This record gives sequence, structure tokens and C-alpha cells, in this order.
Amino acid sequence: MNFAWATRTEVGRVRDHNEDSVWPTTDGSTDEVLAVAVADGMGGHAGGEVASATALDTAMTVSGEPAMRVVAANLAVVDAARQRPRLAGMGTTLTLALLDPDGDLDIGHVGDSRAYLLRAGTLQQLTRDHSYVADLIAAGKLTPEEAETHPYRSVLTRAIGLDPTVEVDSYGIVLQSGDRILLCSDGLTSMVSDGPISEILSREDSPPAATADALVTAANDAGGIDNITVIVIDVAE
Ligand code: CA
Repeated sequence: MNFAWATRTEVGRVRDHNEDSVWPTTDGSTDEVLAVAVADGMGGHAGGEVASATALDTAMTVSGEPAMRVVAANLAVVDAARQRPRLAGMGTTLTLALLDPDGDLDIGHVGDSRAYLLRAGTLQQLTRDHSYVADLIAAGKLTPEEAETHPYRSVLTRAIGLDPTVEVDSYGIVLQSGDRILLCSDGLTSMVSDGPISEILSREDSPPAATADALVTAANDAGGIDNITVIVIDVAE
């Protein structure tokens, strides 16, 4: 199997700086193991940028399974906050995927960034949001449509960097040729719902770069109130 990807991270239309971080930072293709990740930082005094960058730097430097990399990233952000009191309270989401040319996709995940699979025209969210509204939906107290406008929709129940221990969710699937994987921050999913995301990912003759651009444009056209990060990966034989 080989992987072709495109990666974008943009400030959006409202904020004046970008607290998201993404890996890789350039488009490419490979027939070797591919590591990709999205981190969406939070916290004042530049804390969000430091948290997301520190998490990614660490997760991409250590080896091992995605969940272990996320644990290492958490400790690194906790450490960085302790050393720089101005950054106390900073945190970040982290969704990291390893794609093996043998066909395995493994994910480590904390927060409300997301991984999606488009297979045979059907979009499936692979990760579960660690957010207040996701818990309400799971409990049957809120519909996904109501969650889109809920005043507390950005409140996280789990994040990287706040505590030395963190519970990391792991997911694994077996890839098929023709699969398309999307990783993104909530700057996309808070602006564009799954229907339009699926439509953009499903377009004919739209390689990863054009697809990633179209997703960012859709988020900006819908208001662009948050930083927008997307990685689109095509899986081929
Ligand atoms: Ca965000």
C-alpha cells in the first residue's frame, strides 16, 4: 500500500493567530509507515501554540504505538507548563495516526479533534470526541444537531497537558485500497457538518491537495471562527 496526503493549517477568518499544529507540514506520498497528527491548543499567553507544538514535537520524536506517543506528549506539555508559569493551564487535543503499508491504521486520541474514514462513499467518524456535548449525545440528552449550536460545545472533558496522567483512546482498522482518511481540528467540524464534509471528500478527480483546500474553504465560507487544520490521506495499492 502507499499513501498520498495533503496537509493544511490556517488561522481562519476571526482569530489573529493559529493555535493548531499539524504533522506533516508539507504534502507528499510514501510507501513506508506514515505518521500524521493534529493538535488543537488552548490557553492564554501563547500557551495554546506552545502546547500543540510541544505535543506534536514529542509525539513525532518518540517511537512506539500511537497511544504511547500521546502519553509521552502529555508528559512533555505538563513539564513545559511547570517550567514556564506563564503557560500554566495550557493544554491541547492530540489525534495521532500511524498508517502501515501492510494495511493497519492505528490511532491514539485525546480531545475533540477527529479522524474520519471515507470508504465506498460512506463517511465514518473513527474517533469519539472527549467533549461535554459528546457525553450528552451518548447519554441521549442531546441530538447531534442540537450539539452544533450548544453554548458549551467547545468544552472538553479530556485534554493533553493538564495532568500527568491521561486516558488515551486507541482505535485500529484495516485499510483498503481506495480509502480516504481525514484528520481535522474542530475548526472544520464546528463550521461544516458531516454531510458537506462527506460530499467534498467524495468528489471525483479531487486529489488530496484539492480536497484539503476545499475543506478549508468550506470552513472559511461558513464563518471561519476558529483555526482550521486538515490532513487528507489517500490509500492505494
Ligand atoms: Ca479549535
